[in-house]
Amino acid sequence: MQRARQILKSRFGYEEFRLDQENAIQAVLNKKDALVLMPTGGGKSLCYQIPALLFDGLTVVISPLISLMRDQVSALKLNDIPSAFLNSTLTDREQSEILAAVRKKEIKLLYLAPERFFAQDALFLDFLKSIDVSLFAIDEAHCISQWGHDFRPEYLKLSAFKRHFPSVPVIALTATADTLTRKDILEKLNLNRPEVFVSSFDRKNIHYFIRPKQESRQKLLDYLEKHREDSGIIYALSRQSVDDLAKELEKRGFSVKPYHAGLDKDDRDEHQDLFIQDKIKIIVATIAFGMGIDKSNVRYVIHMDMPKNIESYYQETGRAGRDGLKSEAILFYSQGDVMKLRKFAQIEGNPRQTEILTRKLSQMVRFCENKTSCRRKHLLNYFGENYPDTCGSCDACLTEYEKADGTAEARMALSAVLTLRGRYGVNYVIDFLRGSKSAKMREADTKLAGYGSGASISKEKWRSLFYELIERGYLAQQGDEYPIVKFTEKSESVLNGEEKIMLVQFVSQAQAVVVELPHEEELFTKLKALRFDMARAAGVPAYVIFSDATLLELATYLPQEMPDLLRISGFGETKLARYGEPFLKVVVNYCRERELASKIHQKKDKRIKLRSATS
Ligand code: ADP
Ligand code: ZN
Repeated sequence: MQRARQILKSRFGYEEFRLDQENAIQAVLNKKDALVLMPTGGGKSLCYQIPALLFDGLTVVISPLISLMRDQVSALKLNDIPSAFLNSTLTDREQSEILAAVRKKEIKLLYLAPERFFAQDALFLDFLKSIDVSLFAIDEAHCISQWGHDFRPEYLKLSAFKRHFPSVPVIALTATADTLTRKDILEKLNLNRPEVFVSSFDRKNIHYFIRPKQESRQKLLDYLEKHREDSGIIYALSRQSVDDLAKELEKRGFSVKPYHAGLDKDDRDEHQDLFIQDKIKIIVATIAFGMGIDKSNVRYVIHMDMPKNIESYYQETGRAGRDGLKSEAILFYSQGDVMKLRKFAQIEGNPRQTEILTRKLSQMVRFCENKTSCRRKHLLNYFGENYPDTCGSCDACLTEYEKADGTAEARMALSAVLTLRGRYGVNYVIDFLRGSKSAKMREADTKLAGYGSGASISKEKWRSLFYELIERGYLAQQGDEYPIVKFTEKSESVLNGEEKIMLVQFVSQAQAVVVELPHEEELFTKLKALRFDMARAAGVPAYVIFSDATLLELATYLPQEMPDLLRISGFGETKLARYGEPFLKVVVNYCRERELASKIHQKKDKRIKLRSATS
């Protein structure tokens, strides 16, 4: 492991392993099969890239997307790690050159799409058998599972791996948090007594906010105005709303492009590339956008409409902050969306599917409706992980709630449920309380006691009250498609006056109080500009040169000499030689102009801080 550590420092410029990296690398070096479950941005790639450098033979990496392969290989090359990819974008000649280089052991990592292996003539398989293969890495391994969100039939063929190469270790990697998919991966891949590494799926650097959808456009504009320098993804449900929003933002001078399946493939690819290369800041998209986006400096993900389940929400928000820096996930929530999504969840002729989709939707609604308990805890619990009661970085944790005696209102709500004999959903009970004249209201119910008794309280307020009662177990919801509210054991004691209930009454503005490391913002901007130029010259996305985290460290610690740079995360020996001078020059000049002193000697403290904020 000594050597693994050395490589981490000298080649990749990182001080310490993260999460399960070290254990996973150890297992692979011991020639064991492994499954690595790590959240996005956790650092899965190093788990096979470092062994690849230590093994004598070739490491073959299976990856589902051409764009991902290309960027990974560019990144490796910048660290002087001999690597290549084979895919349909290359000419035959280029491909045979690569194979020749592999044969001569000039290449350590070879990236491929899964369909390569089992092409009819099995030529490629024979080729691999004729050379020294040390390791197979299967990236995005959830693609093998029908349960997963991104099933790819060609991945199923990979189950034959172990038969063809019984003695070559296989490491499978995924960011899928869902347990069914995990189990499925293990079964389908036929791994030999694999070691399984499960990291926490907590994305500490992502701060979660859910806001009511009223005036969401204006709220969005205010937010974007404050984050003009940042990259972000804005998700909307329909193509039409994507187009409209992108147009409006463009009109207001934002650097933005739309992305959805209705656009020409060329336009789509172009918009995605512009975004990845930082040539535009904002992409407005349907959920068609995002798979395989490796861009590390996405600072915010905004949902203008509610995602259809918690898995999608986690997946989509997870595209923020791969570089470990603070990022925000904001979701605008409304009841209207729930209605829409309920309709989409109705799959004709497939009651089973409908039931699953509606149940997942209801869970998402619960997640949004609950305003007072920690979002992060809710998310992690959903994925079967424990978490303390508060995280300090979600709207629930950051909001000050004032509680007041809500016993009277709670009793009205509970009586209404009782009167209606637990046969209706929340909305109906609220309509009843408010004395609604809507056609949906049954004539007979309008004659019951309590009808209209809560007319002085707004619908919104009732909703929040009901969901609080549900969250706290005073009421329960039953059924998926149209969940009804029911009594629980706890309801009784409130109704008969034995228990007082304190309810959320006043909510002060949620303000993220984030302690940020002080850095020189202008310098940060200059460094980004330099990175942009270098990326353009090298024909790679900016984050492949350096992540935002590296630039931020430069702008914080203000190194003045080349050796100082080695203390900056992301500067390995190769990058130091290649990029050290120009970046240092920008920092030194900046400090000279402003008479700023270096803070590199404070670096140690910072690392501890950074770690607690990112890993
Ligand atoms: P994943 O594939 O799990 O989403 P990546 O392998 O792309 O994550 O890594 C995410 C980012 O974190 C990359 O910029 C990578 O270089 C960086 N990284 C990985 N391991 C470490 C580490 N031990 N210390 C600091 N940064 C790391
Ligand atoms: Zn929280």
